[in-house]
Amino acid sequence: TSARPDILIAAALPPHLMQRLQDTFTCHDATSLSEAALAAVAPSIRGIASKGETKVSREYIARFPALEIISVFGVGYDGVDAVAARERGIEVTNTPDVLTDDVADFAMTLLLSTARRVVDADRFARSGEWKKGPFALTTKVTGSRLGIVGLGRIGKAIARRAAAFDMEISYHNRSPQSDVPYRYVADLKTLAGEVDFLVLSMPGGAGTRALVNADVLDALGPKGFLINVARGSVVDEAALIKALQEGKIAGAGLDVFENEPNVPDALAKLPNLTLTPHMASGTVITRTAMADLAFDNLQAHFSGKPLLTPVPR
Ligand code: NDP
Repeated sequence: TSARPDILIAAALPPHLMQRLQDTFTCHDATSLSEAALAAVAPSIRGIASKGETKVSREYIARFPALEIISVFGVGYDGVDAVAARERGIEVTNTPDVLTDDVADFAMTLLLSTARRVVDADRFARSGEWKKGPFALTTKVTGSRLGIVGLGRIGKAIARRAAAFDMEISYHNRSPQSDVPYRYVADLKTLAGEVDFLVLSMPGGAGTRALVNADVLDALGPKGFLINVARGSVVDEAALIKALQEGKIAGAGLDVFENEPNVPDALAKLPNLTLTPHMASGTVITRTAMADLAFDNLQAHFSGKPLLTPVPR
């Protein structure tokens, strides 16, 4: 056996992370290996480097009898069956905290840009349409009511930013947070009915699938905006398209989609939307910090040191 642990690269990872992995481990790229080549190397795999939404299922984990650790590049690890991993004593790590500020900044960017229609206005100014008359009036943000679904690390960072816009802040989690001044609303539909902007920053996965459904969108209402920096899976996308088409909500800012990188045509055609390609953590500084943390967790494990950021048990 080689002194350098064998690591399986389960998803397309950024060059900086790939470089560090290749310098230290024997890497096998699952995204380009044939089925036979993967089967041949499977018994020696001791670590998996992956991304949050890439499927690392119970069945997949079972193919690697020597697996010790799954290091996820990203804070969300909804693609990984962490329960199956735990049952076999396999560690799972993610990259919390280092991306919190960027994702919160981006949630506010989407909120402001959607309410003030910055993308439509940019097109209006560039195209010369302005010469025919002024741009339509938009929606005031300062002093409005914000509902945050998933008041965790990112949700709290969004709330701190929203406070500077004098927004009235309420939130919904499965249970209230003890250390925040914001109003807790135990029922999501009730929260949606009481706010101007509903911002989603909860984890993806089975526990939150389609939590934002037609009922919640109806409650948000024709003056309400939906902002999603969580996961596409937390929204019933077909219901969202219908609500937007029928004017049941005012607009949406979406960084995440059900079937990325595919953005439904129906969404692409609608006005009053800001659509971005899952880029909330996408700054040079933050993606580098995420890559370093994903690497450092593997490095710590294979040198017998405590993991930096294991996912909660
Ligand atoms: P945290 O674990 O700190 O926060 C998650 C919050 O969601 C918790 O407060 C939790 O509270 C709440 N929550 C969990 N389940 C539910 C539920 N069923 N209903 C309502 N609330 C729930 O995570 P982070 O803030 O660090 O990250 C949140 C998510 O943001 C990630 O999991 C990821 O999916 C997404 N993300 C997206 C990015 C992007 O590029 N767009 C980048 C980074 C993250 P409680 O347990 O009380 O319910």
